[in-house]
Amino acid sequence: MSEEMRTRICVSIRETTSQKAAEAAVRAAEWADLVEFRADFIEQPDLPLLLRASRKPVIFTLRSRQEGGAYTGSERRRLETILRASQAGADYVDIESTASWQAIMQGVPPEKVILSHHNFENTPADLNSLLDSMSASGAGILKIAVRARSLGDNLRIAALLEYARKRGATLCALAMGAEGAPSRILSSRWGSCLTFASAPGGEAAAEGQLPADLLTRVYRVREIGGETELYGVLGKPLGHSLSPYIHNAAFAARGKNAVFLPLEASGFDDFLQFHASCPLRGVAVTIPYKGDAYSHAHSLSVAAEQTQAVNTLILNEGYWHGENTDVEGFLIPLRRRALPWKMRAVVLGAGGAARAAIYALRSQGTDVCIVARDAAKAGLVADRLGAEHSAWERLGSLDWDLLVNATPVGMYPAAGQSPVPSEWLKGEWVYDLVYNPQDTRLLKEAAQRGLKTISGAEMFLGQAIKQQILWCGSPPPENIMETALHAALTPNITP
Ligand code: NAP
Repeated sequence: MSEEMRTRICVSIRETTSQKAAEAAVRAAEWADLVEFRADFIEQPDLPLLLRASRKPVIFTLRSRQEGGAYTGSERRRLETILRASQAGADYVDIESTASWQAIMQGVPPEKVILSHHNFENTPADLNSLLDSMSASGAGILKIAVRARSLGDNLRIAALLEYARKRGATLCALAMGAEGAPSRILSSRWGSCLTFASAPGGEAAAEGQLPADLLTRVYRVREIGGETELYGVLGKPLGHSLSPYIHNAAFAARGKNAVFLPLEASGFDDFLQFHASCPLRGVAVTIPYKGDAYSHAHSLSVAAEQTQAVNTLILNEGYWHGENTDVEGFLIPLRRRALPWKMRAVVLGAGGAARAAIYALRSQGTDVCIVARDAAKAGLVADRLGAEHSAWERLGSLDWDLLVNATPVGMYPAAGQSPVPSEWLKGEWVYDLVYNPQDTRLLKEAAQRGLKTISGAEMFLGQAIKQQILWCGSPPPENIMETALHAALTPNITP
């Protein structure tokens, strides 16, 4: 990639005082190529202080409320302040395409003007005409930020960037929201001149903006190009997923030119559409798409067939092979502790993870009773996998050696909940498949009552190691993946 084409990372600073913003700009230099001061969040921006503080080129932005900003003063004063920022030495000033940008263009050299457009509702179908009309302004840099409602909306951003490239326009285009994450990470592959990131530890200035350290160290956006292989985690919502941390760490340690993306799809068809234009080599599948992945896979492993759940897709000569690495991952912590297989287990839930746990336990000869809030579903799963089932209300009277929570109760962001009243915890072992947080309320209460506990983090790591072997054909650096997982599970950087 030539230097001119390289995407520059702009750290957007959203602080309430000039002093804090100046300090954040100093810290941002570690990751940033540019720094954007969102001066609309600062009560009385001290221009000289801000400009002196930044070691990187500065974008000065004073966003109005209509455009999603915080500036409440008059429009005349806003334009005057933007002009003053340019005169004081700001490298670039941002002005919206809906504002009187002509006033800015008269006083600022065109190559220093970023003409921006925001749509916080959706991604319109016709972005090319928008680009054409914005190009007519003569501004040196154009910025189009829209709200993604699907993975497919990222493809519109890619198509727009391709159109801009053909027209010779310098464009920053991105999709906001969780669904739009690929557009921020693949900015250099798709030719966006800038990608915006939040200051680590600071607030995001726009929905879906990723912290700069995540963008540079975990996703390694500076290294992504046309040859980079794409992998990802498919689910909705994905806020809880730590897969990007450990798989990107594994790819980096292998020296593999690959990136693992968060793929928050509006439906399975949305994912298929994204894959058709942006082929993925492998996919980790999570809630709620394990059943869809099972139905769409062209071939299945025995574990995937038996559990009717696919948590791993491997692209093989254009065909999807479906695997279920949760089965093997589930057994690893039990083997490690040498638990006897001749025991009674109760599994809570009848979804994908529950089916993996039940199948794994049954394959070792363990007696399993399924307890799910949907009794009919529990009955079907029990019949299929050779287990018993019981009503949720009877859980307190069941005898068990091992209790497995395979429901999402207690998972981030609803941590603090437990699927079971603590007085019902009367067995020997409790295994919570929820891994974020690592120390769930269920595990804490079990430990308080003297039971032995197993965190889902161990299973999570085990199933991810298996995924790496399936995708890359060789074992990954396990210690690096473990370190990445534990760093991501540390409360202050958990997403
Ligand atoms: P899933 O397919 O959606 O199944 C969830 C199950 O939990 C369903 O039976 C559902 O019942 C039940 N459930 C949901 N909310 C409930 C509630 N409030 N009370 C009682 N039951 C409830 O999800 P999954 O893929 O099996 O995942 C379940 C959990 O396991 C998640 O927290 C996931 O992160 C975790 N997991 C961990 C690992 C790991 O490696 N540690 C791997 C896979 C999954 P209905 O059918 O009635 O909705």
